[in-house]
Amino acid sequence: MDLLKKINNNWIKKFSYPLIISGPCSAENEKQILKISNKLNKSYVEIFRSGIWKPRTKPGMFEGVGENGLKWMVKAREKNNILLATEVANKHHIKLALKYKIDVLWIGARSTCNPFTMQEIADNLKNYNNIVLVKNPLNLDIELWIGSIERLIKNNIKNIGLIHRGFSIYKSYKYRNEPCWLEVLKLKKKYPNIPIICDPSHIAGNTERIYEISEKAINFGYDGLMIETHNNPKKALSDSNQQITPENLTKILNKILLKKKINKQYINDLNMYRTNIKEIDENIIHLLHNRFITSKNIGKIKNKYNIEILQKEIMLKIKENYKKMCNVLNLDEHLIQQIFDEIHKKSIEIQIK
Ligand code: PEP
Ligand code: MN
Repeated sequence: MDLLKKINNNWIKKFSYPLIISGPCSAENEKQILKISNKLNKSYVEIFRSGIWKPRTKPGMFEGVGENGLKWMVKAREKNNILLATEVANKHHIKLALKYKIDVLWIGARSTCNPFTMQEIADNLKNYNNIVLVKNPLNLDIELWIGSIERLIKNNIKNIGLIHRGFSIYKSYKYRNEPCWLEVLKLKKKYPNIPIICDPSHIAGNTERIYEISEKAINFGYDGLMIETHNNPKKALSDSNQQITPENLTKILNKILLKKKINKQYINDLNMYRTNIKEIDENIIHLLHNRFITSKNIGKIKNKYNIEILQKEIMLKIKENYKKMCNVLNLDEHLIQQIFDEIHKKSIEIQIK
């Protein structure tokens, strides 16, 4: 049997729709945790998030405050009657998160892509009854994401949700982590029972796109949003570029949720493919931009060494390669030829300049 079909979505029905999770990227000190949790608009935010152990790219960066942070979070829960969520990545984290009765655990993108880590987490959460949210792995490997979830289900963990936080792709032009909506929506379509939450903060990597990504996710029928908030984003010790103030979160949510009365939509196929086409087109434009910059650099070298701009032999080889690719991909060779004739014309113009 397909293990993912066993996932229980009753847990999310106990929250309002859409479920809003918010709080800082990292817990930094008690005052900060209490300030943010006090300021979050409780008519929207039902779960307060905060990272306690931070997976950073390089050693020596701020790596989280550890157990003390859990104590501050517990105070925030008592004062604000809000549920708590934190990231766990090993058995030590799990032991402490359970000790402080953290209500929701999430598994970060760097853990989901490591089967050893996932197995350790799953084994140490055996029969866990609370909510576990699994972020997509860093790389665009949906099977790896599914595999991580299967490890949890095999350990009798059923209150599971997914967090779509985007994928790390070489040269993403617009986002910190490319959303790759189509891949995630296909998964959502295959397993409509699995709650799925969008994390616009880690997709965007900046504050400007939070609104646009959140609105898109809601229109695609996502069950909730996880958005990072900080009382003083510029001074945040991690992810300072993407955190917004609790006040701005309220403004964004007002705009999205009040604009239209949201019906929980089923996934609209046409919308899904349209979004994909738009992103492909934007990537083509960025690639062309890159190509013309490269042409300029080639032009400089040719000029320096007095090399002829148009080298017929090289051009023939390039064209031969396009032809081969068209055969493999079953593409109209003449169309591709026409497109590249235009691109080459422009390239030569740039090089001459
Ligand atoms: C986070 O939520 O702060 C975090 C580290 O996220 P991710 O695992 O998506 O990078
Ligand atoms: Mn973060």
